Formats: sequence, C-alpha cells, structure tokens
Amino acid sequence: MKNIYKHRGRQFIRSPKGKRFSCLDFINEIVNEEEAIYDEHESPEPIFLGEFTSTGYCPCEKCCGKWSNPSNPLTAIGNLAVEGVTIGADWDTLSPGTMLYIEGIGERVVQDKLAKWIVERYDGKILDLYYESHEDAWNHGRQIVSVWLLPDEI
Ligand SMILES: [Zn+2]
Repeated sequence: MKNIYKHRGRQFIRSPKGKRFSCLDFINEIVNEEEAIYDEHESPEPIFLGEFTSTGYCPCEKCCGKWSNPSNPLTAIGNLAVEGVTIGADWDTLSPGTMLYIEGIGERVVQDKLAKWIVERYDGKILDLYYESHEDAWNHGRQIVSVWLLPDEI
C-alpha cells in the first residue's frame, strides 16, 4: 500500500502502520503544507538598512574628475550608467548589484563605487545618485533618506 496519496491537489501521508493519521494530524499536515506554499510564493520583506546621506553626480569632470566620460558614462561594474537606476555606494557595505529602495526616490541599483575618502566621511552610509545633467545632480543636493534592501526576487 502506498503511504502517500493525493486528493484535490493535496498530499496525504499514511501512518507507518498503514492507518491514516487522526483528524488532528490531517489538519496539522494541511496547515504545514499551506505554510510551505505560502512561504514559497511570498516575496521576502524589504530590510530596513537605516538612514543614509544621498547626493547626486553626473559624468562631468566636476563630479567624476579623472573618471569623467560624458560621451560613454560607464559605471565601475562596466555597464552604461542610467539615470533612475544607477547609484554609487560603498562596496564593503553594499555589494555591486544590490537593489535598494530609497525613500522618496524609488528603486535603485548599486553599480558605481565611491571613493574611499567619501565612504570614510559618511561611515559607509552614503549613496550617490546618477543624473545625466550636472544641474539635476546639483539640485539633488544632500539629503538624509531612509533606505531598504530589496530582495533579488522583487
Ligand atoms: Zn556633474
């Protein structure tokens, strides 16, 4: 005799003696199964990382110095920098590719690496947002923002 049978998409397990579980065992079995399915489909919650200082930069020489290349603004990971996506961060705090939600700004991806002296000044809690124009980067100014880590699945 099979120890497992299925009914209406659920899987029921017989006891080792071939006797079905008691009513309570069945309920527990169903509850456990539903929890497992729930966990599988539930997106992990964003994790609050705290408050960061955010600044803006563009590919101009004022913002990027020797790395300035407005005609081909590549990030530190080698892709083209995109306004609305690209941010620079401390890679010891937030590794490249990390997706963040920034309060009042939206979702961004860590693609650029910040200079060590900037990271040290803010103790790693600094995000630099990429803008196409220097004016927009300048207008961003310096803001204190709440930041959440977004799980990869989102
Ligand atoms: Zn600039």
